[in-house]
Amino acid sequence: MTRKLHPATIAAQAGGFIDSASGGVVPPLQPSTTFVRDTTYALVRPDNIYSRDDSDITRLAESLLAELEGASEARLFPSGMAAIAALFRALPADARVVVQSGIYWGTTKWVRDFCDRRDIALTEVDAADEKALKAAVSGHRPHLLFIETPSNPWLKTTDLELAAELVHGVGGLLAVDSTAATPILSQPLALGADIVMHSATKAIGGHSDLLAGVLAVKDAEAPIWSAIKTDRHDAGAVIGPFEAWLLVRSIRTLPLRVERMSANALAVAQAMEAHAKVDAVFYPGLPSHDGHAIAARQMTGGFGPLLSVCVQGGAAEALAVAGRLQLFHRATSLGGVESLVEHRHTIEPHTGIPENLLRLSVGIEDAGDLVADLEQALG
Ligand code: PLP
Repeated sequence: MTRKLHPATIAAQAGGFIDSASGGVVPPLQPSTTFVRDTTYALVRPDNIYSRDDSDITRLAESLLAELEGASEARLFPSGMAAIAALFRALPADARVVVQSGIYWGTTKWVRDFCDRRDIALTEVDAADEKALKAAVSGHRPHLLFIETPSNPWLKTTDLELAAELVHGVGGLLAVDSTAATPILSQPLALGADIVMHSATKAIGGHSDLLAGVLAVKDAEAPIWSAIKTDRHDAGAVIGPFEAWLLVRSIRTLPLRVERMSANALAVAQAMEAHAKVDAVFYPGLPSHDGHAIAARQMTGGFGPLLSVCVQGGAAEALAVAGRLQLFHRATSLGGVESLVEHRHTIEPHTGIPENLLRLSVGIEDAGDLVADLEQALG
């Protein structure tokens, strides 16, 4: 068929995969680490030598993710952090980078340590503040601008078209952590980004049972992409076949799950905004959110599963609300089918996260049940 297929069709049919050996509509799981040669010493399958970089199921997952993301190529890594590390390791030792402030704490912490060790000049900026972003990019002329949108846990929204124009104007690249948006709701490459990153541990995996990360690129000939691919091959930050198999299985329902999580998250955000015992709600789907206009422009079909709520009081009150929740599990992470609540201040006490902030990852349960659970916990 020549017609361009929609994400729901690509995902549900795993890109049209049929196993040529068995006729199965599900790909086989091949755990072999090594692949044979014939009597003339030719490889039986020229693209399969050794599983550090040769795996049919990983290639299938990567091609599906590239298609959903509108990318030329994608590569999987054993975690989101491994994908971010691969990106930053591809920079020259004297590089300059501008990284969004107030993003996932694990990223900030690792990037600070890495840039320090490698003499990379790091500038952190609130990228959702256009004036600050312009000043940081023109002042530091970065080789790489790294944005996370919507950001975790502040849900700040950065204008990706503007970010791309700014960094391209100084000869740099734009990389976007699009984990909270998923490849279904946002397509950063079409908005000008050069590389998109996801923690596939989150919504792409979606069942809280695998760790994975992905980088996807617009221009497969870009020198940074060759450096990333070489580094992954040689340094071996690869995903195992079972995780890749689980990912393919998960991707088949990704559009459905994202649609439901986004609708549920919006319902929860609206209910929380109207609640007398809630001081603030951060969710890009709410018209009251600072980044709503940008999010509405660059996200289609919803605003994702992640939101943060500041309850009345301080840490004790927030922890008490979390403790009274019966459906939201008290656990870190996001994007799974089950709803989670996290008190980020407990995890990162010195980073300015409000003591009364609860981060919610909204799953695919019944929205009314979730809202009722929050309402009884707020009292
Ligand atoms: N980026 C974001 C926005 C995240 O929330 C996380 C993890 O929470 C990561 C990256 C790191 O991903 P992983 O836990 O798969 O290493």
